[in-house]
Amino acid sequence: MVFDSHMDTPTELLRGRDIFIDGSAQQVDLPKLRRGEVGAAFFALYCSAQLSPDEATAHALEMAGAVERIIRESKGEFASAYSPSDFYINQAKGKISLFLGMENASPIQESLDLLEAFHKIGVRYVTLTHNGDNSVADSAAEGSRWGGLSPFGKKVVKRMNELGMMIDLSHASDRTFWDCIELSEAPVVATHSCCRALCSHRRNLTDDMLRALKDKDAYVGINFYPYFLVEDPLKTPPGVKEIVDHIDHAVRLAGVEHVGIGSDYDGIEITPEGMENVGCLPKVFEEMRRRGYSEEQISLISGGNLLAVMDRIISCSK
Ligand SMILES: [Zn+2]
Repeated sequence: MVFDSHMDTPTELLRGRDIFIDGSAQQVDLPKLRRGEVGAAFFALYCSAQLSPDEATAHALEMAGAVERIIRESKGEFASAYSPSDFYINQAKGKISLFLGMENASPIQESLDLLEAFHKIGVRYVTLTHNGDNSVADSAAEGSRWGGLSPFGKKVVKRMNELGMMIDLSHASDRTFWDCIELSEAPVVATHSCCRALCSHRRNLTDDMLRALKDKDAYVGINFYPYFLVEDPLKTPPGVKEIVDHIDHAVRLAGVEHVGIGSDYDGIEITPEGMENVGCLPKVFEEMRRRGYSEEQISLISGGNLLAVMDRIISCSK
């Protein structure tokens, strides 16, 4: 069973994706999720930094509605999930759990009440930024507006702790990352990030950050985007081996209980060789087996760790 912490499928749903057919150009659809043995996934409500605050709020709501629609149309193949216990109930019935995340806090504008409203409709993590600083925090792509979290962002972190929402630091600037490590009372997550020691992209996590995730009993989901896996993917295209290299490195620094899969499918325009879509996921675990990971360790990394960190974050809520 795989529980993937980041897929951008809601964006594709609004573009007309037929999630129920095995489309050749589709990275994510129901037949491929089944082939990939995916039992649960976070579907990200992604808003570009170019949208105005009101446009972002409307866009996020529309995507949440599109996810609701495919759950209804799926006749029991998909089910909503808001907590690990929902996942276990759905799993027992053979259903794929769809969790909602929000990528870019822009839809909450400058309102903690909007944050509460998005929590109410099922959003369980917020990736604080995308590729642009916003009212909450600085991003890795810019990183100059606030010097980390904004004053409002500090309130957001506190409220997310109270609600048991996961603070997602993928895309965050280094200073935003460290501000959240310091301020958050609950573990944090990086739902789709790789290791900077292996590929120097500014949005990848340094070894110090990976160690901090261990100390914070937190989580990183390894991203499959070729530009985060290797320095020059057009010259030396990565494959399964490079994905598992990043898993290995993260496990060495953050510990085997704090690493998972955050493929970023439907959010990446190129994919690693042999890993063209979510149906290819079992190849990652085959490669891990070859490298000596036990079945127990593979089940932690394929989904157990994400369920466990959700439980820890919920148990910190008030
Ligand atoms: Zn992203």
